[in-house]
Amino acid sequence: MTDSWQKAAEEFMAVAQRLWQRGLVAGSGGNLSMRITGSSHVMISPSGIANIDCKPETLLRVDLNGKVISGEGRPSKDSAFHLGIYRIRPDVQGVVHAHVPWSTALTLLGYKELPLFTPHAQAKLHKVQVVPYAPSESQELTAWVTEAFNSQKVVAALLEQHGMVAVGGTLQAACNIAELVEETAQIAVLVHLGNRGQVK
Ligand SMILES: [Zn+2]
Repeated sequence: MTDSWQKAAEEFMAVAQRLWQRGLVAGSGGNLSMRITGSSHVMISPSGIANIDCKPETLLRVDLNGKVISGEGRPSKDSAFHLGIYRIRPDVQGVVHAHVPWSTALTLLGYKELPLFTPHAQAKLHKVQVVPYAPSESQELTAWVTEAFNSQKVVAALLEQHGMVAVGGTLQAACNIAELVEETAQIAVLVHLGNRGQVK
């Protein structure tokens, strides 16, 4: 195990811990990944192991096509759209995918994008679109999520009936975006309820 792998794993585990503490990731749902600096490889959790339980030796190193370079098991569900994003966005170093309740609820209320009610969200989130439903691990889901991130301005997307994806120049930055998206979705759902269910 190299020093750079160990360092990257420590960042991965710190972010997994934070997301878990904030209640953004429950059980083995959702997943994180990060690009290994100076390589075309990505660190990602193996399928069936919760991010919070990952150790440096259980994390997988995969190439941008999903081939496992080192580690045991297969990459976690939905890793294909993580890799799709890394392929088209060289600026992205970390991806957070979470099955968060407020963001998911908003997608079920008929919104096509996340309403950005606060100046902070407007400044940080640009435009967060809702990607239509497609089954986990399907080619459609991979294609649509990847397509949603085709501009460098895009930092997050909501997935209908599923959750959210956030990206950043580091995994920690992606985590910050994920937290802001979920907070913004919570505000939007509460405003929606205040508007007696009318989609604005
Ligand atoms: Zn998922």
